[in-house]
Amino acid sequence: MNELLQKLEKEHILSKKELIILLEDNEINSELFDLANKTREKHVGSKVHLRGLLEFSNVCSNNCKYCGLRIDNKNIERYNLTFDDILYSANIAKEAGYKTLVLQSGENQAYPRKQMKEIISKLKKMDFAITLSLGEKTFEEYKNYKEAGADRYLLRIETTDKELYKKMHPNMSFENRVRCLKDLKELDYEVGSGFLIGLPEQTISSYADDLLFLKQIEVDMAGIGPFIPNPDTPLANENEGNFLLALKIMSIMRLLLPDINIPATTAMEVLKPDGQIIALQSGANVIMPNITKPVYREKYSLYPGKNSNDNIAKENSETIKIKLQNINRGISEDFGISNAYLIKKSTF
Ligand code: SAM
Ligand code: SF4
Repeated sequence: MNELLQKLEKEHILSKKELIILLEDNEINSELFDLANKTREKHVGSKVHLRGLLEFSNVCSNNCKYCGLRIDNKNIERYNLTFDDILYSANIAKEAGYKTLVLQSGENQAYPRKQMKEIISKLKKMDFAITLSLGEKTFEEYKNYKEAGADRYLLRIETTDKELYKKMHPNMSFENRVRCLKDLKELDYEVGSGFLIGLPEQTISSYADDLLFLKQIEVDMAGIGPFIPNPDTPLANENEGNFLLALKIMSIMRLLLPDINIPATTAMEVLKPDGQIIALQSGANVIMPNITKPVYREKYSLYPGKNSNDNIAKENSETIKIKLQNINRGISEDFGISNAYLIKKSTF
C-alpha cells in the first residue's frame, strides 16, 4: 500500500505537506477509496443513517456569494412553513421510519426564539433525534435550543481560507463562525461541520487546511459538498466543483476521523449519477432525504438540480433500501449518534 495511506490508516493524522501529496496524486485514488470504505466498515459499521431534511424556511438575511437563498436574490419566492406544514413532514418521516429530523433554514429571525423552542420540543416528543442547521446564533440561543431538546447542530465552516471566506461572505466573519462551533461544542451538541469544494480560488493547500481544521476541532459529523454554481448568484459563471476531488477529500476525512458520521451529499449526486452511492462506498455512512412538502422544494434553491434531479435523497425509504441492498448495505434503525461523540463522552 502507498506509504502515506498506510500512515493515515494507522495514525489517523498526516501533516499538511503529506495531505497535499495525497491530494495531488491521482494514482492512489482507488486504493484510497477502498481504504476509506474498509475504515468506515470497521469504525461505524455497514448501516446507513437516514436523516429527514426539512427545509422549513428559505428566508435569509445573509448574502453568501454562492447560495441561491442569499438576500440579494429576488428571483425566488420566500416562505416560512407553518407548524402544521412542519408536522405534516414530521409524520411522513415517522411513517417512513426515520429517526432523525434535520431542521434547516436560511439565517433569519422568522421564528421568534420562543416559537422555535416550541417547535423543537414538540418534534422531540415524537421521539426524533433533532438536528438544527439554522446558521450563526448567540450562545444563549444555542443553549435555549439545546434545552428545548435539540441534539445536533450543522454549521459548515465553508472554507478556512480567511481571505476567501471574507470575499464569499459579505458582512460575516470567520472568527464568529469559529466562535459558533466552539459554543456548540461547549453546549455538548453533536457538532457537524464541513466545507465546499470548488469555490473560485480554493486550492489543494486550502483543502488540506480545511481537513486539518475539522480534525483539530474534532467534529462529530463532516459534510463535504461540491460547489454548484447558481445562475441567480454572483458566481453564476464559475465552474462547478470536481466530483473526484470531492470524493477524495471525503475519503481522507474518513481516515482522519474514522468514528464520525459522513453524509453522501446531495451535491455529489447532482454532479454525477449515483454519486451518493459512490460516496457511500468511499467512506460515507449517512444520507439526508428531503422530506419538505414538494410545493416548497423548488423555492429552497441553493443550486440547480438540487430538487429536480432524480437522486436517492428524493426517494422514499423503500427505494433507498433497494439501492442500499444492491451494495450490501442496510438502513440503520437507531438514532445514529456519532461514534466519535459517544467515545468522547465515555472517556470524559
Ligand atoms: N443557512 C445555514 C448555513 O448557512 O449554515 C444553513 C442552510 S445553508 C443553505 C446549508 C449549506 O448549503 C451551506 O452550508 C452551504 O455549504 C451549502 N450551499 C449553499 N449554496 C451552495 C451551492 N451553490 N453549492 C453547494 N452547496 C451550497
Ligand atoms: Fe443564507 Fe446559509 Fe445560504 Fe448563506 S448559505 S445565504 S447563510 S442560507
